[in-house]
Amino acid sequence: MYNAVNPDIVDALRKIVGEENVLLAAEDLERYSHDEVVGLSAYPEVVVKARSAQEVSQILQLAQRERIPVTPRGAGMGLSGGAVPILGGIVLSLEKMNRILEIDKENLMVTVEPGVITADIHRAVEAEGLFYPPDPASLDSCSIGGNIAEGAGGPRAVKYGVTCHFVCGLEAVLPSGEIIRCGGKLVKNVVGYNLVQLLTGSEGTLAIVTQIILRLIPLPKCQIDLLVPYDDFQSAADTVSAIIAQRIVPTTIEFMECDCVLAVEKLIEKEAPFHDAAAQLLIQLDGNSRESVDADFEVVGDICLEHGARDVLVARDRPTRDRLWEVRRKIIEALRNASPVNHMEDVVVPRSEIPALLRGVRALSAKYGVRSLNFGHAGDGNVHVNVLKDDLPMDRWEELVPALSREIYELTLSLGGTITGEHGIGATRRKYLPLALDEAQIEVQRRIRAAFDPNQILNPAKIFP
Ligand SMILES: Cc1cc2nc3c(=O)[nH]c(=O)nc-3n(C[C@H](O)[C@H](O)[C@H](O)COP(=O)(O)OP(=O)(O)OC[C@H]3O[C@@H](n4cnc5c(N)ncnc54)[C@H](O)[C@@H]3O)c2cc1C
Repeated sequence: MYNAVNPDIVDALRKIVGEENVLLAAEDLERYSHDEVVGLSAYPEVVVKARSAQEVSQILQLAQRERIPVTPRGAGMGLSGGAVPILGGIVLSLEKMNRILEIDKENLMVTVEPGVITADIHRAVEAEGLFYPPDPASLDSCSIGGNIAEGAGGPRAVKYGVTCHFVCGLEAVLPSGEIIRCGGKLVKNVVGYNLVQLLTGSEGTLAIVTQIILRLIPLPKCQIDLLVPYDDFQSAADTVSAIIAQRIVPTTIEFMECDCVLAVEKLIEKEAPFHDAAAQLLIQLDGNSRESVDADFEVVGDICLEHGARDVLVARDRPTRDRLWEVRRKIIEALRNASPVNHMEDVVVPRSEIPALLRGVRALSAKYGVRSLNFGHAGDGNVHVNVLKDDLPMDRWEELVPALSREIYELTLSLGGTITGEHGIGATRRKYLPLALDEAQIEVQRRIRAAFDPNQILNPAKIFP
């Protein structure tokens, strides 16, 4: 179905992007052969770094003519193998398209290229008193193009929503090489199908995004963070329901189980707050007046204590806040430290079903004889179940993970949830897509893909089984 990249194709790529932007050395191909999924890699035949939409267009026209697969890549921080070139071909990196083009203070919009690191957008707009809320935990390393392609979420989703709620306009290059501009600096726009939202979350399978317009809001002036320990997860979950029932919407409500905290302690080699608590909540409140944030804080603090919290640690300034968040921010690193081979799930259930999900996951971990450490977003039902290989033999581990994943997905679906909340289907979950979507939906999605890319040159072997 596809052809190999031959020397003539390499020459043609050099003519488009310049010699220095075409990489063929073994160590370069290795660097672009994986994302952050442990144990998944596939080598590209060539890596090309584009600097403009026109270059992306020419590369796609060439790939189309020669039938070469093209895998778009942002910063390679993905957790579903989306940027891994499963079928070889070209990895098309957007890392050099990393300019913030305009902060429009009149329309409250920022226009960026896809390779900008997400935290750089935060810093640039916050310096102007503006706010781009989506905050994936990887924000210091991931790119906004990758966030668009994955429909990335983050802890602030509870109050503000996720990436798709802030994208107003996109410039994108179709697999044919045509450059399209959809949406714009518009709050309202109902002309035709909403291609902006269709491309957001399309995991690099429909088009390559080359420019993005994001909506901004005023930066909230005040913030309070709380770290709250519990002796059992159910009490923590009851607290979350009670807060929402009081019509208070915190900015974030994160949770972590005791084992995660202990794993971080090993990594940082010091004692973490409340390390013997069964579960901890991290709650953030924000707003524009100190009085209103303090009033919400009083109510939330009382609710926590009424529902069995052992204590409530409060942070009102940056250094204290960083201390409260230290453990939560280091969990993924600590899991890798505990067991370099591990497996992370990204399931999502209705908020109220998290306790049932955690009970089920514990039972499944016992059945398969593995440790599972769980943390995630208690405010939006998104749970990261992490299964550790520890000392299991590799063949047993490789046989166990797919069977355990399937059972976790079946459990999640039975609770009204689904198989990924923010990391995407990519390469790692595609065989499970039929568990989550019926045949009619998969078929209509396949047809959408074929309408964009009849020859399937863009990011093949992703999403669909
Ligand atoms: C420690 C850690 C914490 C994380 N925390 C979160 C979190 O809180 N929330 C969350 O949602 N995710 C999280 N992630 C996952 C990951 O960071 C996000 O999915 C992020 O959006 C990936 O961005 P990237 O630039 O690294 O994309 P890549 O990994 O390079 O690519 C991801 C996908 O996007 C496609 N793509 C990239 N750029 C473009 C483009 N310009 N046009 C079209 N397609 C493109 C690729 O083909 C691929 O399919 C975390 C990852 C790690 C390692």
